Amino acid sequence: MDQPLQQEGYFGEFGGSFVPPELQEVLHYLSEQFYKFRDDPAFKEELRYYLSEYVGRENPLTYAERLTKAWGGPKIYLKREDLNHTGAHKINNAIGQILLAKRMGAKRIIAETGAGQHGVATATACAMFNMECVIYMGAEDTRRQALNVFRMELLGAKVVPVNKGQGRLKDAVDEALGDLVQNYQNTFYLLGSAVGPHPFPTMVKHFQAIISEESKRQIVEKEGRLPDAVVACAGGGSNAIGAFAHYIDEPTVRLIGVEPDQAPSLTQGVPSIIHGFKCLVLLDEDGQPKKTYSIAAGLDYPGIGPEHSHLKVSGRAEYATVTNEEVLEAFQELSRTEGIIPALESAHAVAYAKKLAPTMGQDQIIIVNLSGRGDKDVEQVYQMLK
Ligand SMILES: *Cc1c(COP(=O)(O)O)cnc(C)c1O
Repeated sequence: MDQPLQQEGYFGEFGGSFVPPELQEVLHYLSEQFYKFRDDPAFKEELRYYLSEYVGRENPLTYAERLTKAWGGPKIYLKREDLNHTGAHKINNAIGQILLAKRMGAKRIIAETGAGQHGVATATACAMFNMECVIYMGAEDTRRQALNVFRMELLGAKVVPVNKGQGRLKDAVDEALGDLVQNYQNTFYLLGSAVGPHPFPTMVKHFQAIISEESKRQIVEKEGRLPDAVVACAGGGSNAIGAFAHYIDEPTVRLIGVEPDQAPSLTQGVPSIIHGFKCLVLLDEDGQPKKTYSIAAGLDYPGIGPEHSHLKVSGRAEYATVTNEEVLEAFQELSRTEGIIPALESAHAVAYAKKLAPTMGQDQIIIVNLSGRGDKDVEQVYQMLK
């Protein structure tokens, strides 16, 4: 269901690669290698093996019977990315990119992380494959996320605090890109979401598309037909594009991405270039990427993947926002009715599904992508509810 190879990573007017020439060369080589190995039978078999034996795929598509009853509308199914090893979808992409790095002969993996979730997934995969791992993290973020720093260190990674600039994610990205340009001969930059310059959005989608490859097969087995809607939260957009991928060419399936109302890149962003690619971006009065805030750290990003930007502008997918109150309510409702504590990110998708349900019939089906489990968020929710 992949679209034909896009013109150098363009999705309509979005995507592309806006980086200095020395980085462009490195990315061009990466792109060649990705297309070469993507369809290689031995590579595909190795990926399949680790997704099964290490990540624990395939994960279930659970019928949420009590939630369906409570909402009184369409059948609700949950795609259980929360049951993956490390508790979220990010590991799918980390394993895929590490296997590619190995094929390319890299000895060293670098990554940047904001809240630390992508850093932990990367450090996990590096431990598993015995790769040297360096994680760049804004100094401010290392203080706010001390426990995730410790997790990465337990897994054998070196965490480098970045003091430049504001000591935040953007500064960590710049530092990691600088490292890549210097060390590209033995180093692979493992990017965590469906963002960044080409080929990253295409590559991350490829490794996350397993979500909808499975859910499509599972829903046809269980219900004998496709769902009417697929709902997923969108930060950079990797779990959502993975959950949508195999339905994009199925016009009867509504695709709905959900953002925090305080970081609505898709609902209010304008076309602009950020971090080396073009997408819908939230800008402030000075035309700079806006400072966003979300109670879900994984959704706190002023841009969004280029393919989502295109799906939005072309009308193929819909994007909506939910409030913090709705998210907190969904977090508790799913816990209470199904015994599943969702990640705060994933609770955005649940919250929107609840608003969507009354507009649909009982003979219809919604798949909600549960991108991760909520253990990491329990203390934060405790503090917020107190
Ligand atoms: C990181 C994260 C997200 C947001 O990232 P996307 O690239 O938009 O998927 C969503 N859910 C969970 C559980 C995460 O860890």
